[in-house]
Amino acid sequence: MDAFSYAGGSLRIEGVSAAAIADAVGTPVYVYSARTVREHYRKLDAAFSELPRIICFSIKSNSCLALLKILADEGAGFDVVSGGELFRAMRVGADPRKVVFAGVGKSDEEIETALKAGILMFNVESEEELENVDRIAGRLGATAPVALRLNPDVDPHTHGYISTGKIENKFGLDLKRAGALVAASGRFGNVRIVGVHAHIGSQITEVEPYAEALDRVGDFLRCNRSAKAPMEYLDAGGGFGIFYRGGEAQPAEAFAHVMVPRIKPLGCTLILEPGRFIVGNAGVLLTRVRYVKTSPTKRFIIVDAGMNDLIRPSLYGAFHEVWPVDAGELPPSRGGPVAAAPGYGRADVVGPICESGDFLAKDRPMPEVKRGELLCVFSAGAYGFTMSSNYNSRPRAPEVLVEGDKFRVVRRRETYEDLVSHETV
Ligand SMILES: *Cc1c(COP(=O)(O)O)cnc(C)c1O
Repeated sequence: MDAFSYAGGSLRIEGVSAAAIADAVGTPVYVYSARTVREHYRKLDAAFSELPRIICFSIKSNSCLALLKILADEGAGFDVVSGGELFRAMRVGADPRKVVFAGVGKSDEEIETALKAGILMFNVESEEELENVDRIAGRLGATAPVALRLNPDVDPHTHGYISTGKIENKFGLDLKRAGALVAASGRFGNVRIVGVHAHIGSQITEVEPYAEALDRVGDFLRCNRSAKAPMEYLDAGGGFGIFYRGGEAQPAEAFAHVMVPRIKPLGCTLILEPGRFIVGNAGVLLTRVRYVKTSPTKRFIIVDAGMNDLIRPSLYGAFHEVWPVDAGELPPSRGGPVAAAPGYGRADVVGPICESGDFLAKDRPMPEVKRGELLCVFSAGAYGFTMSSNYNSRPRAPEVLVEGDKFRVVRRRETYEDLVSHETV
């Protein structure tokens, strides 16, 4: 059952009234459903149950410790892209043997810390990086397990900013260079090439790009495996899309259906790095209407959450459903009233930040709302809080975790003192 419902006419998150959370904690506030996080993790795990696998949750999508703890308890590993994310994974007691480290620009310090922690592998993205990992491992008297991050040159049909597997993107090694690197890997005495990695993009709603990428990665693996490069792991990255508008997402089985038959014959352990798929629709952002104003052409709903809290609409033109907490029924994207229902004038939902790019939703059919009313921004669990900032010197919003009929603040709202606490005059 969906954890977000309008049972009784007002939004509930699991067994808790959204309005009660906003009254207790204030707005804007991120709210996550623990049950949904667990359900999404289990769905994905079950879909790939035919393969030996490690599901490494991508911390950059949501780095909230309380959520990471839930996933660690489920048996998840973690995909980290910085020393800070590694620190978070360790803080919740993650098994380092289930941690993979990706990113084009790892620092020496990050590499050293991860080696000392004993992570499963580094996803190495260039010749120079491999050399550097080899050098640092040598200095520590260690052998570094690495997977080569391949750029399979496939188009994931997603937003340009979140496509990573096309040849013009900065990520990974093209297959030719990667092959040459494996052939030359005898030069590197302190690394072991234990796998290959390909993460082709994010919010991918078609299965074909995965099929195409895996065909290329599979061929590469067959041609380049050796005693020195045993390639026991195939890391297929993350990127599974979710629904924002309604209906556009694929279930985990659809991806598994094309991926499992391509991976099984390779005899590899599969690693997945899902972020959005697990947390995107497990979280919402609650915000209160500050003012409503109409211009000759538009209705503006000015709310207390802005682009510093949720930047995706401003950054990518991303769509987030925005709907009154007391609307009585689900929004259009969740099977509620038809978008063009009479009486729903169109509106822009905008934040208080001094930028014209500061909006959460544009030109949407919306019921009448009044000053003080609560709105819910849906699908805000991934790349929401983690991309938030203090722009306009706004303290960041708190994060609340709902479990059953209870909720608790798992990150308190920042204060003005927090804002200046790192500064001196
Ligand atoms: C961002 C990222 C992910 C997660 O992507 P989602 O679309 O959230 O699943 C996985 N792997 C790598 C290397 C990433 O950079």
